[in-house]
Amino acid sequence: KYFSIKKSFIDTLKGTPQKIVHAVDGINFEIYPQQVFALVGESGCGKSTTGKLIVKLLEPTDGKIYLRGQDVTDIKTKEEVLEYRRKVQMIFQDPFSSLNPRFRIFDVLEEPLLIHGIGETKAEREELIYKALEMVKIIPPEDYIGRNPHMLSGGQRQRVAIARALILNPTFIVADEPVSMLDVSIRAEILELMKDLKEKMGVTYLYITHDLSTARYFADYIAVMYLGRIVEMGPAKVVIDNPIHPYTRALLAAVPEPIPERRNIIKEIPIKGEVPSAANIPPGCRFHPRCLYAEKGLCDTKYPQLVEYEHNHWAECHLIGKY
Ligand code: SF4
Ligand code: MG
Repeated sequence: KYFSIKKSFIDTLKGTPQKIVHAVDGINFEIYPQQVFALVGESGCGKSTTGKLIVKLLEPTDGKIYLRGQDVTDIKTKEEVLEYRRKVQMIFQDPFSSLNPRFRIFDVLEEPLLIHGIGETKAEREELIYKALEMVKIIPPEDYIGRNPHMLSGGQRQRVAIARALILNPTFIVADEPVSMLDVSIRAEILELMKDLKEKMGVTYLYITHDLSTARYFADYIAVMYLGRIVEMGPAKVVIDNPIHPYTRALLAAVPEPIPERRNIIKEIPIKGEVPSAANIPPGCRFHPRCLYAEKGLCDTKYPQLVEYEHNHWAECHLIGKY
């Protein structure tokens, strides 16, 4: 086990004043070394909140977080947090706002080295910076280090953001929608790069996305989130080929299927309406107002539990296997 979260909650004050909501509500999962673990769902489901929980930009109200078996839930001192951040880095969605526009690329990459006290001399740091840029294929580095982020394309900026995360030699990276703001034509290229770096550097990823088609391509394991809960999880291939939760099926039905023979596997399942606000969570199964299969008197009153439907394939629905 590399990383695990046990029954974590995050309460936030959202919507009406004083109303406490669980933005993340009792989630449990484990990530294994060098796995790409995808968290999938529509926006507002708690995916980014979970990512921030892992990099410790947010604290859980309850529950535990472990890195390599070590409880890191309550690390607080500056030194502890610095040490943790060196191992656990984050790549953000927006390469336009995540890089300081006043910094040159050199400064962007030197900053984490200075914060963490890596590289004693400027020359040593420069060497690390060149290496990191080469790794993400910003070559030749000397052509780029003097530029400001706005002189780079979106794809190049995201490469620089990846280099900034990698320069600390982390073992775990939370990538929050790293390609969703990029041109469709370069998304595969960036994911390919991330995959490549996983092999070369042995990093483990938590990949956050609303897009099941990139998760299918990139992830080993998929957890589908809905309104703060994980409603289905399992090996990527199993979840994609045999989705059991109506929400996962609906998400998959919305993804264009490139392989004609597979088109019939996933029945067209429309999804009704939008994700309700986290401040207004429906009783019973949280998905029931949007679910085609919802059973009156059951789904609208009783909270389903996450059960193991088949080996390592979990889902949270009263009617598993009945539709
Ligand atoms: Fe749909 Fe009921 Fe299953 Fe919820 S528990 S997903 S409402 S069938
Ligand atoms: Mg998000």
